Amino acid sequence: MKKEIIKFGKLLYDKDLTSATSGNISIRFGNQIFITATGTALGFLKEEDIVLIDMEGRELNTNEKASSEKFLHVEIYKLRKDINAIIHCHSPFSTAFAASGKELSLPIVAENILYFGKIPIADYAMPSSKQLVNNTAKMFSDFDTVLMANHGIIAGAGNILNAFYKIETAENFAKTYIFSKILGNQKILENEEIAKLQVLRKKIHSENTEK
Ligand SMILES: [Zn+2]
Repeated sequence: MKKEIIKFGKLLYDKDLTSATSGNISIRFGNQIFITATGTALGFLKEEDIVLIDMEGRELNTNEKASSEKFLHVEIYKLRKDINAIIHCHSPFSTAFAASGKELSLPIVAENILYFGKIPIADYAMPSSKQLVNNTAKMFSDFDTVLMANHGIIAGAGNILNAFYKIETAENFAKTYIFSKILGNQKILENEEIAKLQVLRKKIHSENTEK
């Protein structure tokens, strides 16, 4: 499990989705959580940089301090029994939307409607604060991928690969959005086409949850 966190931390770094010591990753392990320690660089994690905490955010068997956003991870795991892995990072194109106070929702790419529906934005709060936990975790009642205003992005999934895909896909969509805006004449899909995609999205989602 630690190896998985190390592998995906490096992948996030190699794909320019994280930089320096920002961001954090966790994986649920029964009633406990493996999470990156505070101040660690996701691109260069070692096994000792990953800390085991309980569902109250208390560090177990270690002197290392868990990520300062540990309570946000804990809260999301408590809320969503189907989420087993969480990635939070400041991927630059997605964070550009968070910095502009814009959700990633304009229906201009079919795949994005299918994959996310939309990516909403949680209200700003100080990093590591209780308010940030409240503002962000509640969005997970309806969404798996959420922008954090003036901060970054966070995604949860059944496993770490799917959480990574969400971060990567959101970043690609943010890039496409920005470039299509520069090109001009962004073509918004017709309501009828959006409705068809939403039907397909529900179908895919129910098939996945039945498995
Ligand atoms: Zn952050």
